[in-house]
Amino acid sequence: MTPIGIYLHVPFCAAKCPYCDFYSMPAAPEVQDQYTKGIIQRIESYSDSHLPADTVYFGGGTPGLLGAERLGRILSAVRRSFDLAPDAEVTVETNPGCGDDALFDGLAAAGVTRISLGLQSANADELRLLGRRHTAKDAARAVELAHRAGIENVSLDLMIATPGQTQESLRQSIAFCAHTGASHVSAYLLKIEPGTDYGRRQDTLDLPGEDEVCDLYETACTELERLGYAQYEISNFSRPGRESRHNLKYWRCEEYLGFGPAAHSFFEGRRFFFPRDLGAFLRGDPPVDDGEGGDFEEFAMLALRLCEGLREDACRERFGHPIPAQVRRKAVPLERAGCCRVTPEGISLTRAGFLVSNAVIGALLL
Ligand code: SF4
Repeated sequence: MTPIGIYLHVPFCAAKCPYCDFYSMPAAPEVQDQYTKGIIQRIESYSDSHLPADTVYFGGGTPGLLGAERLGRILSAVRRSFDLAPDAEVTVETNPGCGDDALFDGLAAAGVTRISLGLQSANADELRLLGRRHTAKDAARAVELAHRAGIENVSLDLMIATPGQTQESLRQSIAFCAHTGASHVSAYLLKIEPGTDYGRRQDTLDLPGEDEVCDLYETACTELERLGYAQYEISNFSRPGRESRHNLKYWRCEEYLGFGPAAHSFFEGRRFFFPRDLGAFLRGDPPVDDGEGGDFEEFAMLALRLCEGLREDACRERFGHPIPAQVRRKAVPLERAGCCRVTPEGISLTRAGFLVSNAVIGALLL
C-alpha cells in the first residue's frame, strides 16, 4: 500500500494577523493541554490500522507555540498508531521568535526533520503593516537555531503583493531568504479574505494594482530561480531534492489523514473534514463527509498547479486512459495565448498561466 500523509492542525496563535482566515486563536496552556490530549485520542483511534505513512505535517496556526514536549507526545502517538517510515518527512510550522532557543533542539530530538517558518517579509515596514511582531533578525536566528539543532531542511514563507511592497523590497526579502541558507521558499500572493480585518478595510490598504501584482510575481519567480530555488508549484520553490514531500501528496491527489479542528482528509476515495470548532473536536464529534474525491477533474486540477503539470503517464497509470482528447483540444488556444505548454508527455501551465491559473484550469477542464 502507498504510504499516506498525516496532517495535524494546531489552531493556536499568539495573536491574529489582520489578513489571516486560517482557523486559529490565542489559547491558555490548559487549553493547549486539552487539545494535545484530544488529538492524541483521535490519532490512537487508528492504532489497529497499521497504515503506512511517510510524511507528517503540523500546520496551523502556529504549531511551535505548543512547544517541543507536547508536539513530541503527539508525534509519539502518530508513531504508535501508524507505520511511520524511518525516513519520514516530519514538518512543523512555526514563527520567528516563537518559543525559546531550545525549541528546535527539542523538535529535532522528537524526530522533526523540517521546519516551515512564517517570515512573510524581511522588510520592517511591511512586517508592521502585516501585523507581524517578529523582525528579519528573529527569522535569521530561527533558521540558524534550526540548523544548529540538526534540522537542515528549513522553508520560509514569503508574501507577494502586500501593502507597500515594491520590486526592490521583494528582491531584498528574497535575497534574505537565500542568505539564511533556507532550502525551500513558499511565495504566496496576498489574498484579501472576507471576514478578516484586511477584508473590512481593503479600501484603505496601499495594495498594488493588477499589473504590479503580475510584475511582482514574475520578479519573485525569476529572483528565486536565479538564487537556486527551482519552481515546482505555482507558489513553491526549492533547492534540489527539498520539495515538500507532504504537499506534493496533495497536488498528486494522494491519500492523507487530517486530525484537529479544520483538518481535511482524503482517504479511501472519500473526502472528509473536522469543522472549524475546537469545542466540537474536543467533544469527540465525528468528521463531516465531503463526498467522493480523486476523479479525473480533481486530479487534473491539482496536477496543473505543479510545473510538471498533467502528465500522460500519470493519467494512464491512475485512470487507465490517456489525457482526454477534448482537454488536449481545449489546450490549443490556451497554448497560443502563452498560458500553457502542450507536448506528447502532457500539459503544463506557463508562468503567465500560473498567474491566471483558476481561469486557465477552468477553461481546460470545464
Ligand atoms: S501567525 Fe499565521 S496562522 Fe497565525 S494568525 Fe498569523 S498568519 Fe494566521
